[in-house]
Amino acid sequence: MLWQGRRESDNVEDARGSGAGGRIVLGGGIGTVILVVLYILLGGDLQTLFNSQQAQLPQTAQYDSQAPRDEASKFVAVVLADTEDAWNEIFRQMGREYEEPRLVLFTDMIQSGCGFASGATGPFYCPQDRRVYIDLGFFRELQGRLGAGGDFAEAYVIAHEVGHHVQNLLGISDRVQAMRRRVSEDEYNQLSVRLELQADFLAGVWARYTDRVKHVVEAGDIEEAMRAAAAVGDDRLQYRSRGYVVPDSFTHGTSEQRVRWFRRGYETADLSQGDTFNAREL
Ligand SMILES: [Zn+2]
Repeated sequence: MLWQGRRESDNVEDARGSGAGGRIVLGGGIGTVILVVLYILLGGDLQTLFNSQQAQLPQTAQYDSQAPRDEASKFVAVVLADTEDAWNEIFRQMGREYEEPRLVLFTDMIQSGCGFASGATGPFYCPQDRRVYIDLGFFRELQGRLGAGGDFAEAYVIAHEVGHHVQNLLGISDRVQAMRRRVSEDEYNQLSVRLELQADFLAGVWARYTDRVKHVVEAGDIEEAMRAAAAVGDDRLQYRSRGYVVPDSFTHGTSEQRVRWFRRGYETADLSQGDTFNAREL
């Protein structure tokens, strides 16, 4: 992917390491871990704890979004800008206005609008504060353990999370959440799979747009994204909308399904082709 020297998004917040964001995260982090362990030992209910914790902490910490950037975060900012350009245009064509999400880079632990998350959770989108959260360590893991590295693989991961933001803006996530109370756990898991596959589809739509308009997609890039889609297993990319971020209990669809929906988004670039909820075959 050709990315150097291109526009970087202003919507990246760097909460890594030291600095105001880092201190907030660290202060809450360690204290909370100890508290949680004690609480569990005493037989407490985690949900209650996190809810009360959240009430005492600021919903959104302020981070310096103008700080000088390293290569890795510059790349993230360029890809986020690409998603902004694509979705601003696609929403405009639908007669709607796209509200750009913010993206938080963090290390180890973070307090999100959806509660605490650790880097081990993997990248996620929090609908409550409309932010995408990424620990860059995940990209190293994608490269190493999962064997699916490369810049476009990373871009796909970001585009997938932004896909969840698009679903949020379109009211799709809310509809799925509302169903939660009315269906069995098994049926709800099925809906979650469809939500995930649709985010893959939307990542494909973004890839096509970026390819067509900016000509920055190089030979092998799409294959790289599809390798990442296939490699990222059930427990990694998560959609969380409850009070706190928890390891996943549902599957995200098979590797084959993920590749198929990404490819469909890329080949059609037509949102009407991405209705995974009514698709007879996934
Ligand atoms: Zn997802």
